[in-house]
Amino acid sequence: MNREDFPMLNNNIIYFDNGATTWKPQAVLDSISTYYTKFTANAHRGDYNISLLVDDAYENTRDLIKEFINAKSRKEIVYTSGTTDSLNIIANGYFKNKLVVDDEIVITYAEHASNVLPWFNLAKTNGVKIVFCPLDENHRVTLENLKSVITPRTKLISLAHITNVIGDIRPIKEITNYAHQNDILVCVDGAQSVPHIKIDVQDLDIDFLAFSGHKMMGPTGIGVLYAKENLMEEIEPQTLGGGMNETFDTVEEVYLKPIPTRLEAGTPNIEGVIGLGAAIRYLQAIGLDNVHNHELELRSYLISKLSELEHITIYNKNNDSGIVSFNVDGIFPQDVAVYLNKYNVCVRAGNHCAKLIKNVINEKNTVRISFYIYNTKEEIDKVVDLLKDKSRILNEML
Ligand code: PMP
Repeated sequence: MNREDFPMLNNNIIYFDNGATTWKPQAVLDSISTYYTKFTANAHRGDYNISLLVDDAYENTRDLIKEFINAKSRKEIVYTSGTTDSLNIIANGYFKNKLVVDDEIVITYAEHASNVLPWFNLAKTNGVKIVFCPLDENHRVTLENLKSVITPRTKLISLAHITNVIGDIRPIKEITNYAHQNDILVCVDGAQSVPHIKIDVQDLDIDFLAFSGHKMMGPTGIGVLYAKENLMEEIEPQTLGGGMNETFDTVEEVYLKPIPTRLEAGTPNIEGVIGLGAAIRYLQAIGLDNVHNHELELRSYLISKLSELEHITIYNKNNDSGIVSFNVDGIFPQDVAVYLNKYNVCVRAGNHCAKLIKNVINEKNTVRISFYIYNTKEEIDKVVDLLKDKSRILNEML
């Protein structure tokens, strides 16, 4: 990895908000620019050369994603606009048709809104119950805790693989193993995991997986829905229109294309797909193990430095990812973020869309630093230097 690959670094910004979105390497920008300057055309619609080039690029990225997460078949990969879109399709296209009154869905208080609200909605429309799995003293899901809330009515366990405030990695393989013995499906929100650790959907035996391109150096507006082929077959399209139908005549005579195309109505996000392909190639060249190890090194360096500061409370000292959540005692997190911004340091402050997290850490809002491959220890030193004197923060806020 070359830091020079990231044009955003020329702006002299320290970017520590990679949990929100990531910077793009030049290779991703070039792939999009090439599409717009060399072969702009629609996908799956033209019989001329440049349109065929688009078809190739579009479908090659699907193969690349299949390989990247080790799916069994390209039919298991559907393009969406992001994790949120994928989770909503899973909830409304699959579970809405399957779940009945008093069926149970297990989630936790540490989930992002996108893995809470679609299920809350099914509680309203289908009368299902939302059950919260308790977390241990380090805010983790353990199999024992999970077992304690499973009943014969549990139909789905839906969990972030890596949570976006605590940054713990959930034991997905153990969970799917137990869930499948009990006829329970498992949906994984991979927004914070797929960009950072190696995911093998077959090994983990995941039923549904959702992730976003923009959190893995790809463009915004593109994401992936993975489902096992038999489950994908049963997802009812939430959007109907061009591209996904074989033919239609009357109301009764509407024939849809096979998966995955059936679930991709309308002109797709072609530049997004092409950019995501370039991002995956970039990540593969670095190697996910190297990405993860780099982040773990940065994380333990930051935690060791912040732990020396008495006025700082860290909420997730024992996590397994490049996410560190903390507060400066007595200072509102937003004020800390605004103060750091004066020095071109981007951190996130707030509840990070995980509004139930207050039930876990007894704090509604935190400051979050989240790393990616281009962050360095020197950047951490600068931030720790800015945070080390509480009175300086207070003075400069006034
Ligand atoms: N789940 C988690 C754990 C996330 O961190 C995010 C993004 N903050 C999402 C879901 C939603 O992702 P997107 O906004 O790309 O749809």
